[in-house]
Amino acid sequence: MKNFKEFISSYSDFPKKGIIFRDTLKILQYPEVFNDLISRMSNTDIVRNADAILAIGARGFIFGTAISLKTSKPMIVARKAGKLPGELISQEYSLEYGKDTLSLQENSLHAFKSFAIVDDLIATGGTVKSVIKLLKSKNKFITGLVIAVELDELNARKQLSIPVYSQIKW
Ligand code: AMP
Repeated sequence: MKNFKEFISSYSDFPKKGIIFRDTLKILQYPEVFNDLISRMSNTDIVRNADAILAIGARGFIFGTAISLKTSKPMIVARKAGKLPGELISQEYSLEYGKDTLSLQENSLHAFKSFAIVDDLIATGGTVKSVIKLLKSKNKFITGLVIAVELDELNARKQLSIPVYSQIKW
C-alpha cells in the first residue's frame, strides 16, 4: 500500500512550541496520490450513507470538495466566525489556547437529513465535536467523520459518538 505519510510534511513547533504540525497540503502537488487518497476516503459507508458532505474550513474544503465531486454528493461548509453571510447557527469551542466559533448557514441544512463530516486532520477532536453539536441541534443524523490524518495518541476517536475513518494514523 502507498505510504501516504511521505506526502505529508511535518513541522516542529508550529503554530506553537511542542506541536508537530502535519501539513496535508503537500499531497496536492501529487494529483495521482491525492486521487488515490480521495478514492479511499470516498469509498466508505460513512460517505455512502450520507445525503451530503459537511466540510470544515479551510483545509477540510479541499478534501470535502474532492469527495463531493467523486461521489456526486452535495457539500455544505462550516466556517470560523465572521466568514459566512446570512442566517447562521454557531457554536463556540475550545482550542489548545483560547476559544473559537464555528458557524453553519441555516439554509444550507434544510435539504438534507444526514451528513458525513470531512476535514483534513483530527487532533483533539474539539472542532469536530462543535460541528456534531450544531448538526444535532437541528436534529440531523451524522453518518460519521472522514479525515485524511488522525493524530492517534490524542485519542479523539474515543470521545466521539460517531464512526470515524482515517487513512493515515500518526
Ligand atoms: P482539533 O479540534 O484539535 O481536532 O483540531 C483539528 C483542526 O486543527 C483541523 O482542522 C486541523 O487542520 C488543525 N490541526 C490541529 N492540530 C494540528 C496538527 N498537529 N497538524 C496539522 N493540523 C492541525
